[in-house]
Amino acid sequence: MKKQLLFIAYVLFLFSCKKENNTNPETLPNSYSDQALGKSANDLLSDAKYTTLNIQVQYMPGYELETATITNLTNYLNGICNKPGGINITQTQIAANGNTFTVDSAAITERINRTAYTSGNAIAVYILVTDGYDTSQATLGFAYRNTSICLFGKDIFTNSGGLLQVSRVALETSVLEHEFGHILGLVNLGTPMQVFHQDTVHGNHCNNTHCLMYYSIDTHVGLSGMNTVPVLDSNCLNDLRANGGK
Ligand SMILES: [Zn+2]
Ligand SMILES: [Zn+2]
Repeated sequence: MKKQLLFIAYVLFLFSCKKENNTNPETLPNSYSDQALGKSANDLLSDAKYTTLNIQVQYMPGYELETATITNLTNYLNGICNKPGGINITQTQIAANGNTFTVDSAAITERINRTAYTSGNAIAVYILVTDGYDTSQATLGFAYRNTSICLFGKDIFTNSGGLLQVSRVALETSVLEHEFGHILGLVNLGTPMQVFHQDTVHGNHCNNTHCLMYYSIDTHVGLSGMNTVPVLDSNCLNDLRANGGK
């Protein structure tokens, strides 16, 4: 009998999430968008003030998000946010940078390039996709203001899409949906917990190792192709519903 070999690639990806930036050099021209992480959770979840959600993605050359990733994010947000006016995502290219990114340099890049801001009954979220690594190549993204997210495009490309790697769409989707969870106030970051489920050792993350809001993604890629995106567990979903979500 032929001996079967099972190859399993195991990678641990970290999110680096609860970072705030409100220092003067990076002040945005729109005061609503210049608040701390988690402050817009209710505004994003409910339709009390804002009925439309506009998301502006700006990527550096070579790091455009996959079409399927945009579709996944739209479906995820339609499932939890009350936005009867619609959820719209646009994606445009900005100038290359190539440097290692920090929260400060992401905030400066946002200030220079962002054009979509909250106005009238439409709330706006900004997503920057960089062409540089974070200082740690295992860190894939962070949320850093009430409506600002940065993804390390180069880290995501390096760690996905190859033989025995997770698919690019699955990794992009996982990081985006996790970081969006933070600006939606998870965990205990502007959206109150209905029952205690915070992994306090790792900041504002969920204590369920299978939840999207766990502090890391364990990616096992075997011959069977485990490319599923983690989802929010019932504790996280209940928190969002209690704060105006669906
Ligand atoms: Zn996180
Ligand atoms: Zn959870």
